[in-house]
Amino acid sequence: MKYCKKCVYPYYAVALEVSKDGVCSSCKSFERSEKISQSFWKNRKKKLDSIFESVIQKNSTNYDCLIPVSGGKDSYYQAHIIIEEYGLKPLLMTYHGNNYLPEGDFNRDKMRHNFDADHIVWGPSVEVLKKLNRATFKIMGDMNWQNHCGIMSAPIRVAVNFKIPLIIWGEIYMDFAGMHDPDDFVEFSARSRLEHDLRGYEWYDIMDKSDENFSKKDFNWAMYPDDIEIIELGVRGLYIGNFFKWDPNKHTDLVIKKYGWKQAEQPFERTYRRMSNLDDRYENGIHDLMKFIKFGYGRASDHASKDIRTGYMSREEGIEMVRKYDHIVSSDLYYWLKYVDMKEDAFWEIADSFRDPNIWWISKGKWYKDNIWGDSSSYGETNLSRLEQKKYIR
Ligand SMILES: [Zn+2]
Repeated sequence: MKYCKKCVYPYYAVALEVSKDGVCSSCKSFERSEKISQSFWKNRKKKLDSIFESVIQKNSTNYDCLIPVSGGKDSYYQAHIIIEEYGLKPLLMTYHGNNYLPEGDFNRDKMRHNFDADHIVWGPSVEVLKKLNRATFKIMGDMNWQNHCGIMSAPIRVAVNFKIPLIIWGEIYMDFAGMHDPDDFVEFSARSRLEHDLRGYEWYDIMDKSDENFSKKDFNWAMYPDDIEIIELGVRGLYIGNFFKWDPNKHTDLVIKKYGWKQAEQPFERTYRRMSNLDDRYENGIHDLMKFIKFGYGRASDHASKDIRTGYMSREEGIEMVRKYDHIVSSDLYYWLKYVDMKEDAFWEIADSFRDPNIWWISKGKWYKDNIWGDSSSYGETNLSRLEQKKYIR
């Protein structure tokens, strides 16, 4: 297993490419974006000004745009730009996957007061969510599909229903895997929703493949509007990260000082940052444990890679974070098992079936993988049958 020379991403990280000099596409993309001049961002802002002017002139409804908000630091930043800087009237819209931390609840509900805005919260039935957690964990090793799907579907459904032609998203995927540069000027697309966010599975695929008892009516929040509805209204989804330089640490400072936004009070067990994923306790916990199980790296690698690039920590410090956090089986696992009524043995049996054989191997019944600090270690016993173990024996 090889790692980027600049950050701590392994070569197998999702959607990553590594060039001959050993530097990953995410780092390269960051370097390119750092070279972008002030005048570039000024021009981008002008472009946004003119988009707002033309959309608002045509728009006869009460809302100028819709902002999908979780209540996280990025949501606050989006709302700050739209409401404070532009003086627009947005509709705030939250998909509620029922996994908020108390600080996340506080931040989300306070948005309505902070920004004096209208706010819709759409939360699917909790029984349906529990069934979906179980179903998608078995199908794709990701219990959080409902969240990815809800965040990317419910706001568009609401925008179409309320006839709001503009949706303001936050960051583009630029610093996540170097997929895009600001010059690409990506807008929201149905294709990236399905292929990237939903992992290729629509709600009807989940219904088909699962042994849970779902009805079509359970999925109203997951149903993406059809092309005709979208074309007739001319809905566009813009990423605010295309118009303003994106620095999560700076955004966090701003929203804490100006709006009293709260970080997590308790540290997370699987990463050192306290400012991310407060809307979803599993994102840092068990969803992310599955990422480690599948691909051999976790949320601490994501956070450290970002912080190394922006100069908040050295690569050596980043490696220490990976060593400390990436492999931890956190208490979220037991919380989740209780939530969805699953036995721990059943969890590990399913989890192990998703391990990537390019990364993991089995020796004497134990899982092994290479580490970024140069050796390889064992990470617990395997739960696979002897036959299934075959592809992992080196
Ligand atoms: Zn890198």
